[in-house]
Amino acid sequence: MFSKILIANRGEIALRILRACREMGIRTVAVHSTADESAMHVRLADEAVCIGPPSARESYLNVAAILSAATITGAEAIHPGYGFLSENADFAETVEAHGLAFIGPTAEHIRTMGDKITAKTTMQALGVPLVPGSDGELACLEEAREVAAKVGYPVLIKAAAGGGGRGMKVAHSEDELAEAWSVARTEALAAFGNDAVYLEKYLDRPRHIELQIMGDMYGNVVHFGERDCSLQRRHQKLLEEAGSPVLSSEERDAIGATATAALSKMGYRNAGTLEFLYQDGQFSFIEMNTRLQVEHPVTEMVCDIDLVREQIRIASGEKLGYSQSDITFSGHAIECRINAEDPDSFIPSPGTITVFHPPGGPGVRMDSAIYAGYRVPPFYDSMIAKLIVHAPTREAAIARMQRALDEIVVEGVKTVIPLHRRILADPEFRRGDYTIHWLEQFTNRKH
Ligand code: ADP
Repeated sequence: MFSKILIANRGEIALRILRACREMGIRTVAVHSTADESAMHVRLADEAVCIGPPSARESYLNVAAILSAATITGAEAIHPGYGFLSENADFAETVEAHGLAFIGPTAEHIRTMGDKITAKTTMQALGVPLVPGSDGELACLEEAREVAAKVGYPVLIKAAAGGGGRGMKVAHSEDELAEAWSVARTEALAAFGNDAVYLEKYLDRPRHIELQIMGDMYGNVVHFGERDCSLQRRHQKLLEEAGSPVLSSEERDAIGATATAALSKMGYRNAGTLEFLYQDGQFSFIEMNTRLQVEHPVTEMVCDIDLVREQIRIASGEKLGYSQSDITFSGHAIECRINAEDPDSFIPSPGTITVFHPPGGPGVRMDSAIYAGYRVPPFYDSMIAKLIVHAPTREAAIARMQRALDEIVVEGVKTVIPLHRRILADPEFRRGDYTIHWLEQFTNRKH
């Protein structure tokens, strides 16, 4: 087992990793920008190294500075968290070239899944169902027309290098195709420096259901069930549930068996998430994330597992040590992402948190790095906390989340807490009756 790990991240996820390390008796090295000097992950770590100025490009994305920090502190492994360098194959490769362990999959697998076209062809070859669409990259607009006519409108033009919903455009009819084609390509080139695009049938009312996977270095792969992440605004998730309100345990077992067989054949190691659209009882793979996800706690609650601990164990060479039949699901968990944003306009609201009272009591978990007096910097993501609840049933979890949302106090910055309260009270949400389009429509309603 490692004796010291460098955490190449900030905010709640840096704390989350630090907590797992502490419980495992592993020393921690925090890295931070000058804007995060008094951040909680810096205060709680055994050692801290400043790696640059506030801009992420010069700090949390600064590979040379992070590797130097690992070298001078004698860290043996790097946990990248999510975002920043977590899905950067070159980073994973460089870390290993320096004789350190990268707590994640191989650089090769990160690269394969980082390109959504290769990801889809790889998964298809391994027997995972896809959304109907083009066979890989579209060579020209003419080809897009032919494929669209075959799969039927509406269609989606998507960037191979896409992420965060960028480089994605819908065409409802042939008239809109040329524009979707050129806008998606322009956006993709600007955001990712790669204008390769592909085409998918645009599903009109799918749910976003993803599967948590974990593999060791010896070909053993298990899944920890699904998360329903259909509540999204601008392709950004806001509230997640485990399990999905609509999935039966037979359906979970079936997609789980397909996915774990595929990843075991690939030799996939460490944590990963397969994202699917689910409509009319059909799963269609859209992409794979080769890292820990923001919403991993809901899975931890229903499976009673520490996924970060598992990641660290596996990266150090340990075997999974259990099989699929050892993994059981109990109760229901919900996570609300608390963003420092105006709850109506979603404009970020950085500033100083003057009052902070976290909720507590049975079944309540708060993953956050904020405290009273903390200044939310304007340079990074606006998510300041994740509020997670676990209860025996979905109904009880909803009641528990409402109770926790009534208890929490965050003053000084605006947050989306009022929006979460409205969602939790909504009859359609309470029935579990929603698709990926539901939240967008809900936030546009007057209230
Ligand atoms: P990104 O990597 O940019 O997040 P994804 O491929 O994961 O892109 O898609 C993000 C979201 O866009 C999905 O969660 C879903 O809400 C929507 N989406 C993606 N593909 C389709 C599709 N074929 N039909 C309908 N919605 C889609």
